[in-house]
Amino acid sequence: MENIIILGTGSAGYTAAIYAARANLEPLIVEGPQPGGQLTTTTEIENFPGFPKGIDGFELMDLQRRQAERFGARVVSGIAVSTELRASPIRVTLDNGDALETRTLIVATGASAKYLGLPTEQALIGHGVSACATCDGAFFKGVPVCVVGGGDTAMEEAGFLTRFASSVTLIHRRDAFRASKIMADRALANPKIKVLWNSAVEEVHDPAQKKVTGVTVRNVKTGERTRIEVQGYFSAIGHQPNTTAFGDQLEVNEAGYIVTKDTRTSIPGVFACGDVQDPTYRQAITAAGSGCMAALEATRYLESLHG
Ligand code: NDP
Repeated sequence: MENIIILGTGSAGYTAAIYAARANLEPLIVEGPQPGGQLTTTTEIENFPGFPKGIDGFELMDLQRRQAERFGARVVSGIAVSTELRASPIRVTLDNGDALETRTLIVATGASAKYLGLPTEQALIGHGVSACATCDGAFFKGVPVCVVGGGDTAMEEAGFLTRFASSVTLIHRRDAFRASKIMADRALANPKIKVLWNSAVEEVHDPAQKKVTGVTVRNVKTGERTRIEVQGYFSAIGHQPNTTAFGDQLEVNEAGYIVTKDTRTSIPGVFACGDVQDPTYRQAITAAGSGCMAALEATRYLESLHG
């Protein structure tokens, strides 16, 4: 039986692991479907303290992993598919069938990119439809692409895509961006980015050809429909927390984020940190901070078990 199992290898999971490992609790970390988490799908991280020149997302996560392993954390590959959180010990079943038991669980499963959910969009995921410019941008050299969304992610994705694409059309449903001013200004000043305001994507073409050939967009003010010719479609409309392995065992808010009080969830011995419980800040550094808190809380809980 384990003292602490940590689900997820993003900034929250690895920071929890560093703290738990330094407390000699030998945490077991389950890697999850995206080793290294969301930072591995971004480019340069410019706002993580300690890196005045910025740092590549992969490199930062590799450093965090090595730091956790240095103190005795063990990383296993696999995805938690189901859990029995009220059982004693807590049980976690992985996708390879392994059944793990633990005294405490730290949930650091993060959040995943959302899509609009249009049937034609879903049919083309991996065939020109993506939610990760860093992963897929290089496939679109010299061709026009679009990005859907108006937040910081959309600005960042659009800017990154201008390295490859001939043009980037930002499609936003309102007449003002949600993004921070600095990132919005950067996108608006980029000559390769044009913005379609007040516009909703209605259809992605053409599933029959198994590739993206354009999108039909409706102006939400006038109702006018326009087809724009693009060969790539990037969704950048936010994220949803990854909680399927927990069913309805944990209290969540209306958007599905796990409700926590100082990383404690509604079930004693189960803690949550990072984006899976944070609809507000969602930054690498806040994830790391909450990972530290979760490990300290779990350590205290384990001490209380021993009287
Ligand atoms: P946000 O929730 O901030 O923005 C989502 C955007 O998608 C909004 O413009 C929203 O429109 C739009 N949207 C949502 N649902 C739909 C829909 N169904 N149809 C059409 N449009 C839709 O998410 P982000 O991922 O952009 O950012 C999340 C957090 O991460 C933020 O705190 C952000 O600051 C941070 N971040 C920071 C970065 C950095 O500093 N380098 C980079 C990327 C993210 P509307 O505005 O109308 O609601």
